[in-house]
Amino acid sequence: MTSIPALVEKYYPLGAAIRHKIHRYPELGFEETETARLVAETLTAYGIPVRTGVAKTGVLGLIRGGQPGKTVLLRADMDALEVEEQTDVPYKSERPGLMHACGHDGHTAGLVMAGLVLQELRESLRGNIKLMFQPGEETTGGAKPMIEEGILENPQVDAAFGCHLWGEIKAGEVQVKAGPFMASPDEFKLRVIGKGGHAALPHRAVDPVILSAQILCALQALVSRRNSPLNPLVISACSIHGGSAFNVLPDAVDILGTIRTLNPETRQLAPQWMEETARAIAGSWGAEIQLEIKKLYPPLINSAEAAALVQKSAAKILGPDRVRQAEPNMGGEDFAYLAEVIPSAFFFVGLAKDSPVAHHSSRFAWDDEILKTSAGVLCQIAVDYLRAGGF
Ligand SMILES: [Zn+2]
Ligand SMILES: [Zn+2]
Repeated sequence: MTSIPALVEKYYPLGAAIRHKIHRYPELGFEETETARLVAETLTAYGIPVRTGVAKTGVLGLIRGGQPGKTVLLRADMDALEVEEQTDVPYKSERPGLMHACGHDGHTAGLVMAGLVLQELRESLRGNIKLMFQPGEETTGGAKPMIEEGILENPQVDAAFGCHLWGEIKAGEVQVKAGPFMASPDEFKLRVIGKGGHAALPHRAVDPVILSAQILCALQALVSRRNSPLNPLVISACSIHGGSAFNVLPDAVDILGTIRTLNPETRQLAPQWMEETARAIAGSWGAEIQLEIKKLYPPLINSAEAAALVQKSAAKILGPDRVRQAEPNMGGEDFAYLAEVIPSAFFFVGLAKDSPVAHHSSRFAWDDEILKTSAGVLCQIAVDYLRAGGF
């Protein structure tokens, strides 16, 4: 059997070319038609059957091994962001205001490479590999609708793996951890409703601006006083709006923000705490509040067995000192929907050269060589999982 690193080298020029093409023509969530077509055409050209148009633009490839066995799913996301690219790479975005500023061009190209490598190894594989290319990770999430459209059935998926290129980690390194890994990124809208009036007669009004200031401070105290110091919780108010004149007290103030938690219990409790706190402060002056919560992705919780496999397989490709224990991260990731229903692990692949690289920045850039790391590790994970016949 040809080795995985040798096959990764073989498909690297094609993988890099695919990355450049996707990077040059970025597409937003659920509009990834050209990206999806490129993925589907490439897989088909190498004999991998695909299902297209899953959850609008998603693609699912299926590699059947030479012998029956388990089915493992590898996942990538395809969407870009509304960022005006400021790098000077030769494959810079040609679409004004759109950019692959999170690395999803690399996730897609890396998974295509991995697919082609595994397709070449298929005769020696015991079981199947599904290649999942999903839309819209940065928006409302394509993973959930793809699951609802049956991608985990026929054949039934037994385990799932995915990775994110990561700017805080050195190039050539992989980080993974068992258990809670990434946060649920729920959104909140808090309205503080008072009674507007003349700025010079504040005692005749119920000022929602001052109340909002008190509530904002109390929300931070809540994080440190109602929540255990050992339990991660972030409440960030990111937009506050009330009033439009310098001498008129407004009727209401709107506060928009996000609640980040790493476990389902805190995810449920935090909005209750917020509501009680805000209502009590507002109520003390006769004001009212309305709190709306928009639940986004669940927390991403890696299975212990799947995380251990990532660690072992990545060490085979990179050497054991390049595989480290990850810190939990308060970012959100809709791979969480897969991890909710099947044993799964999500991991980070480093891309930083000298200093950390900021995701979602107009200067976000990384070397093509990283594709070899992500593709190689994904292939090794799939091969090791199928060879062992599960965990
Ligand atoms: Zn992102
Ligand atoms: Zn991302």
